[in-house]
Amino acid sequence: MGFKIPCPNCGLRDAYEFRFGYESKKAPHADADLRTWREYLYFFENTCGIQEEWWCHSAGCGAWFKVKRDTSTNEILTE
Ligand SMILES: [Zn+2]
Repeated sequence: MGFKIPCPNCGLRDAYEFRFGYESKKAPHADADLRTWREYLYFFENTCGIQEEWWCHSAGCGAWFKVKRDTSTNEILTE
């Protein structure tokens, strides 16, 4: 995965230090039905383009944070 990810604690690091944590999306309300929870947990958009994702700096500080990444180029978008 030859790209770098900006950890909020450690700065810009190689992607191999991180664990992908899936797409960022809004969780259903706690009272939502099982179908809604199943779709939230097991179905993803798999966007070809820019999407917001959770990443963990698993080989570093252990922080979880969100990143906007272009999935077609692995370019990380910073604001
Ligand atoms: Zn870190």
